[in-house]
Amino acid sequence: MILELENLTHRYGSESAVDGVSFGLESGELVALLGPSGCGKTTIVQAIAGHVRPTSGEVRLRGTAVTDDPPESRTVGLVFQQTTLFPHLTVDENVGYGLAAQGIDRERRADRVGEYLELVGLEERGEAYPAELSGGQQRRVELARALAPQPDVLILDEPLSGLDRALRERMRGEIARIQHETGVTTLCVTHDQEEAMALADRLVVMNDGSLEGVGTPRSLFESPPNPFVASFLGRSNALTGTVVDRGPPTIEVEGATVELDDASRTGSAGDELTCHVRPKDLSLASRGARNSGPSMTGTVTYVADVGRRFDVSLRLESGAELVVEHTGDPPAIGDDRPIVIDPTALTVFDGSSGNDEP
Ligand code: ATP
Repeated sequence: MILELENLTHRYGSESAVDGVSFGLESGELVALLGPSGCGKTTIVQAIAGHVRPTSGEVRLRGTAVTDDPPESRTVGLVFQQTTLFPHLTVDENVGYGLAAQGIDRERRADRVGEYLELVGLEERGEAYPAELSGGQQRRVELARALAPQPDVLILDEPLSGLDRALRERMRGEIARIQHETGVTTLCVTHDQEEAMALADRLVVMNDGSLEGVGTPRSLFESPPNPFVASFLGRSNALTGTVVDRGPPTIEVEGATVELDDASRTGSAGDELTCHVRPKDLSLASRGARNSGPSMTGTVTYVADVGRRFDVSLRLESGAELVVEHTGDPPAIGDDRPIVIDPTALTVFDGSSGNDEP
């Protein structure tokens, strides 16, 4: 492991910001640390960089504990959301700044600066000052500066926030390319699940100071370990169901009787469960038609035309609301329509759908 956090806990006064978090990064991996605002991401970054001394737990770089070491002794490169380039220094001088502190002589420094500016496609702009560059170019210089000292770990803290959508998507591709070319072990901190899923080999999902899930984007999306991850990674409808029978495992959810293909998560008859189903795994049927699977009935409350499909919102008899991705003719508002569930796409958790979801 290049970077390991073990049982990291940090409190600000009596307030717990990070609570017993453990995870590690293998050499060359790009891991996204993902969670809503205030879940403790920045505190973790600061503990890794040495700007915060955690209340308890350990930070290790290449197997060595660095928890109490000063920031400058840690081989960690940082890129933040806000630019931290020195405005009075040229691009060359900014990128070379950390190299001088490493004791690298002038000639080797110039080579290294050239090499990393070329990596980010700015070899022609070494003489420019930050204010003469576009937002995207400034971000590239930040990357070159963080990478030039060849750190063990690169940390990108919300690197694309504040950029417009088109630039964000271009920069996302650039980060992926640069990370791939250099092979630098990278932790990318973001609250944007789409960005995290697009970039990362693995995700570390946090909520309220604790880890909620660790795994590949696909495994967490398809088999979320808990309702929080199910809701946070992509859109999901949360419905309350009741166990009807254990063999074969059958639940009743909003009037639909669904036979599950996975018995592991159902309790005893009468127990309440939370069922998550994604909008793409529900379909609208016509009234009176023979349905191809178990169905609930909902009243259409809103139809959003999102281009290749409609996102149809419906209210169920219980008052619960859900969204169905629908292609074909849009339904009319006020229509009562059967909603067919794909039983294989239902993810079931113990307990009724609570309020612990984003
Ligand atoms: P954001 O994306 O909004 O920056 P985050 O996931 O990075 O959020 P942190 O900034 O680590 O989360 O904050 C975690 C918790 O600790 C929050 O409840 C926050 O209010 C609190 N907190 C952060 N820094 C301090 C501080 N210096 N003093 C007191 N409380 C703090």
